[in-house]
Amino acid sequence: MITDAVSEKAARLAEGGDLPAYVYDLDALRSHASGVQTALSLPDAPEIFYAAKANPDAPILRALAPYVAGIEVASGGELEHVRSILPTTRLAFGGPGKTDQELALALELNVERIHVESPYELKRLAELARAVSQTVDVMLRVNLAGDRAGAALAMSGPFGMDPDLIEECRPLLADSPRIRLRGIHAHLSSGLDAKDLVKQSSEVLKWGRSWLDDTAVTQPEFNLGGGMAVDYNAPVYTFDWTAYGRDIAALARPGETLRIEPGRAMSAYAGWYITQVLDVKRAYGEWYAVLRGGTMQFRTPVTKQHNQPFVILPSAGEGPEVNGVPVTMVGQLCTPKDVFARQVPVDRISVGDVIAFSMAGAYAWNISHHDFLMHPKPGFHYLDSKGPQ
Ligand SMILES: *Cc1c(COP(=O)(O)O)cnc(C)c1O
Repeated sequence: MITDAVSEKAARLAEGGDLPAYVYDLDALRSHASGVQTALSLPDAPEIFYAAKANPDAPILRALAPYVAGIEVASGGELEHVRSILPTTRLAFGGPGKTDQELALALELNVERIHVESPYELKRLAELARAVSQTVDVMLRVNLAGDRAGAALAMSGPFGMDPDLIEECRPLLADSPRIRLRGIHAHLSSGLDAKDLVKQSSEVLKWGRSWLDDTAVTQPEFNLGGGMAVDYNAPVYTFDWTAYGRDIAALARPGETLRIEPGRAMSAYAGWYITQVLDVKRAYGEWYAVLRGGTMQFRTPVTKQHNQPFVILPSAGEGPEVNGVPVTMVGQLCTPKDVFARQVPVDRISVGDVIAFSMAGAYAWNISHHDFLMHPKPGFHYLDSKGPQ
């Protein structure tokens, strides 16, 4: 649902010739994050580290910070960026293929937890930590097989260690006094609803507890990952944080700390990509609306292969229009892949109409190939009743 604040902003941007633009509703973001925080405020419910890669935009990070326990970063670049914006926030650092420079940076910038993805990475980290006489707190990332039915994306492949490979960490840990093992990390899939995610988390906990039994860890931590579902086909659906918080809390045992790192489900709803119809035409019986900008600025519908939800804010309309037909919404790129949504029935669409794509707050601008075709960049606007961030 478009709010008055967003549609008024869209109208002003259209008037000023300032489209396309990203509009972020920071008030909506805060109220969403506060709801998630409340749902997870039970004793034993997991603490939240926001996964910065979903949207590392500075105002987004600042708006979310009061509602989360920390931030998860996935590269040295994200690490430096987040540290510069939130100098004291707790950080966790994950991701495959960490370089020595990135690991050294993590030591320097006081990352609270490093999620180790391979025995070789653990070995290199142990050497770096020894060289600077610094103790480092790690979680081992496990990649458990199993049925990921219902997942939009199963994180199979080179993420973390399978149960055979992770065994190689035992002797390394025993030889590495500067490494303090804290627990187990697992991010196994994305796009799961609360029930399936709880089931997956209980597998992780079961496996992780038994693996840690043979270690010195007494107050184990489990990072259960992100992947909370966002349904682009049903924008009114939202992940059931209340059920999730309650059911995960019920799995925790005394002395354990549970943590999650959601990205998409935190920031997706607060962002809008707003643009305008340049042309309306028919080709071989199919209607198209050509929009200013394109998926080089908003790649989400291409990567996810879905129809991005949108609302049409009608204009006075001079130029072609069409009524009551399915329309395919495309951008300005010279490729048939530049599609925001296919064959969506509309009451009326006309040249000049403003199109506001919703659910554009995560994996949107930051995953897009901005320079392709060299069109002007979109503007960035933040609606914030608390004043500019
Ligand atoms: C991407 C990622 C996340 C966040 O996933 P969402 O689907 O955005 O919630 C969390 N943890 C890890 C390790 C990731 O790679």
